Amino acid sequence: MNSTRRDFVRSAFLAGAASIAAPVSAFAAGVTPKGQKRMKLSFRPYTLELKHVFTVSAMSRTTTPVVLTEIEYDGVVGYGEAAMPPYLGESQESAMAFLKRVDLSKYDNPYDLETILSDIDALAFHNTAAKAAVDIALHDLVGKLLGQPWYNIWGFDASKAPATTFTIGIDTADVVRVKTKEAGGFKILKVKLGKGNDKEMIETIRSVTDVPLTADPNQGWKDKFYALDMIHWLKEKGVQYVEQPMAKERFDDHAWLTERSPLPILADESCQRLSDIPKVKGAYSGIVIKLMKCTGMREAHKMLMMAKANNMKVLIGCMTETSCAISAASHLSPMCDWADLDGMLLIKNDLYKGTTVEEGKLVLSNRPGIGIEKR
Ligand code: MG
Repeated sequence: MNSTRRDFVRSAFLAGAASIAAPVSAFAAGVTPKGQKRMKLSFRPYTLELKHVFTVSAMSRTTTPVVLTEIEYDGVVGYGEAAMPPYLGESQESAMAFLKRVDLSKYDNPYDLETILSDIDALAFHNTAAKAAVDIALHDLVGKLLGQPWYNIWGFDASKAPATTFTIGIDTADVVRVKTKEAGGFKILKVKLGKGNDKEMIETIRSVTDVPLTADPNQGWKDKFYALDMIHWLKEKGVQYVEQPMAKERFDDHAWLTERSPLPILADESCQRLSDIPKVKGAYSGIVIKLMKCTGMREAHKMLMMAKANNMKVLIGCMTETSCAISAASHLSPMCDWADLDGMLLIKNDLYKGTTVEEGKLVLSNRPGIGIEKR
């Protein structure tokens, strides 16, 4: 990072009276004359090593493959990341094949996020994590060029960032007890369910702590009557909401459940992108937004606004990711009802510093862009 250059851009920004005039004053100062600068995308594979074996209803794993991106423009670098847990259908190979097709050199204006990211989305049908890796790096770059963190650009109050859940994966009672004790600093815990030992998981955690819980069966419940009985029992145990109880295509069964449930039911696997919100409205109480599902910060912001306009609850979630993608997502969190942004805490080899968790609450960095720096 060229800090002299960045400071200069920032002082050009601060010198401008209104924030809306900032890009113009930066251009006017001759920092980024239109047509002379070009964005350059670079990327590399990286493997996240998990601190513990992580088990959800479908599978277990000890690593997560990611691809790290950088977009360089006029001496300023924006950072991005694609995280690809195997069950989502992307890999380092598919992400890098996609990123090779992204040509940012043809765009004059890095602030034109809408055009650039719409073009990138149109390059392929899926590849949502690879698209997010470009989106996040571009947002980081633009925030740095503006000299502002994204919560300010979006008009959010960073002090309203919620507590984050910390996830306890499915395991034996002994391991769950140890993990729950290790999670002592968190104000709310998320419990993975759906593998046939639901009550044992909850009772084991309750033998260690009485903090509020959330539950995520990850489509693992097969029967809506079992789901409703379990949700009533979970409410008695201090659970606040339940993610994706049954298979993602069972909209009618989820509508039946949501109508009767004493707890909010959130669509996670059922709601990937902005265009899914009208489909899940009425069948669920709210949605889970993840940058890797929805192509990044730009669409995530639109989903947040659409969900709020439709009186739906919003949980901002994550995969196992470095502090890069987690920090990016955290800029949306002040407007979300809940946050599940613990992914960087589950890995041993984080490369960045950014948003942190203090006494269970998300604390956003006031650095510009997504607010990260390399460790
Ligand atoms: Mg979930």
